[in-house]
Amino acid sequence: MSETTIQLPDGCYGVQMPWGEERNASKAGGRISVPDEYVPVIEGSSAARDGLVSTSRGYSVGTRRGRPCNDDNGKNCLFVAQVWSDHCPSCGSTTGEAR
Ligand SMILES: [Zn+2]
Repeated sequence: MSETTIQLPDGCYGVQMPWGEERNASKAGGRISVPDEYVPVIEGSSAARDGLVSTSRGYSVGTRRGRPCNDDNGKNCLFVAQVWSDHCPSCGSTTGEAR
């Protein structure tokens, strides 16, 4: 099973998976790996809304797949957004198919 590494915000040690398992980083603000298919679940969870987990921006580690920026604005943006992002978090353009 492929996993995605997510960056925890400062002061956060871990996150509880939808099925109840807790995954903890070695230190607050560290990184944990979660199964790819649960990243959107975590992002949409109450924990994410409360700011305990930030998966939407500010990290680019551990993800093997992504949606390339379509560079709608002609800024030569080469950002590869997360697979669930339909807009580039860097410049706001649409993103292409995950690859
Ligand atoms: Zn972009």
